Amino acid sequence: MAYPIKTCVICKEEFELKPDKPGFANRCPDCTEAEATEAKKNRSMDADERKNMRDANDARREAMRNLLYRKDS
Ligand SMILES: [Zn+2]
Repeated sequence: MAYPIKTCVICKEEFELKPDKPGFANRCPDCTEAEATEAKKNRSMDADERKNMRDANDARREAMRNLLYRKDS
């Protein structure tokens, strides 16, 4: 059975559009996989960034607290 041939919008390669292909119908399996990996990477990076920001805020708050204590004593 032949599948329809589509042109990938990312790499311009032609690929067979199989009914069980995950992701977008206008992206070849390679690009779909690459994009899924990239999306996963970005998500974890955002989480790390958020954590780093929280840590930085905590550190700043603690530094400020130490400064205040030092002023009091
Ligand atoms: Zn592609």
